[in-house]
Amino acid sequence: MPVLVVAGTRPEIIKLLPVMQTARARGDMAVELCHSGQHADLGREILNAAGVVPDHLLERPQARDTAALLAGLQANIGEVINRMKPRAVVVQGDTATTLAGALAAFHRQIPIAHVEAGLRSHDLASPWPEEGYRRMVSAIARWHFTPTPAATEALRRENVAQEAITHTGNSVIDTLHWAVSRLDAEPALGGEAARLIEGAKGRNLVLATVHRREADAQALGRIACGIRRLAEETGCHVAMPLHPRAESEILSEALSGHPQIALTGPLAYFAFLQLMRASRLILTDSGGVQEEAAALGRATLVLRDVTERPEAIAAGTAVLVGHDPDLMLAEARAALARPLPAPSDVFGDGRAGQRIVEVLARDL
Ligand code: UDP
Repeated sequence: MPVLVVAGTRPEIIKLLPVMQTARARGDMAVELCHSGQHADLGREILNAAGVVPDHLLERPQARDTAALLAGLQANIGEVINRMKPRAVVVQGDTATTLAGALAAFHRQIPIAHVEAGLRSHDLASPWPEEGYRRMVSAIARWHFTPTPAATEALRRENVAQEAITHTGNSVIDTLHWAVSRLDAEPALGGEAARLIEGAKGRNLVLATVHRREADAQALGRIACGIRRLAEETGCHVAMPLHPRAESEILSEALSGHPQIALTGPLAYFAFLQLMRASRLILTDSGGVQEEAAALGRATLVLRDVTERPEAIAAGTAVLVGHDPDLMLAEARAALARPLPAPSDVFGDGRAGQRIVEVLARDL
């Protein structure tokens, strides 16, 4: 009986790819991939580049809100589990697919492996609903694969048994190393970024992404104001791939047409990495982007009030600026005046997939 890996959004695909690749390369642990359809398009190109075809490709459920989405995903993933009867279900992170996959397994008494376990902001409202989702998965998982020592500590404080926890590092770094070497060998893979990089015309390139639900209309207005001032007052060029959420309209209305701000749709992963590598500074509320920025040695302004990833902040390469335009500008000026930070392995050494698969192969 194979192990079922469940993914549905771009970050889950990026962070579960090393588990799929490692298991397949070893050849002694059969794995199947179930794509829940939560983000139907984002992430497809990376699966193609890795030569991974989902064994179960589901349709995104029609859902008017997050509760209905969770219920629909759980029902759909449950049907796959019923047919396949996996030995274990692997989920990653804190999305609706993560919790739905875990609940679908729990109801069938199938053991759950949680990749990127133990991240905590300690605020159920931020990020919402992710902080609640990851705490719920921790309550029912059998294996907890932690990205950092702080995540291990958080689980220990919640009385998760030490034997159930393995510190692996974050698998995002495994995928980053794989993708960077692919890009170095074949720069055309990131071709979509060339226009954005050339658009900077020698100015400092600043990359910005925003997608969290806490960034409501008022927050997006303040972020847009900060980005406009950043371009005008520091003379930099901002590239901003917009997330396909409806609220991104607010950013495009506020910023489109500005000669030093290039807005674009979501970029393919290789192009996005190419853009990160060409950037002098990164503004983001994304978890994965913070981790990749640290590994690539890029200073980061985190557009949030709390974080479950304090490591880069403690290392001095990232700073929390919330949605405050004055703070964004002050911290951006300071970061642009400093040399690029050294690449850091605070989020992992690129061997998380190997550690995860070793534990699963041992226990199953
Ligand atoms: N990413 C991408 N294209 C983009 C923006 C981000 O491929 O236009 C990648 C990025 O490299 C990172 C991941 O998507 O690995 C982060 O996903 P997201 O910000 O959606 O989610 P989070 O990490 O906050 O859960």
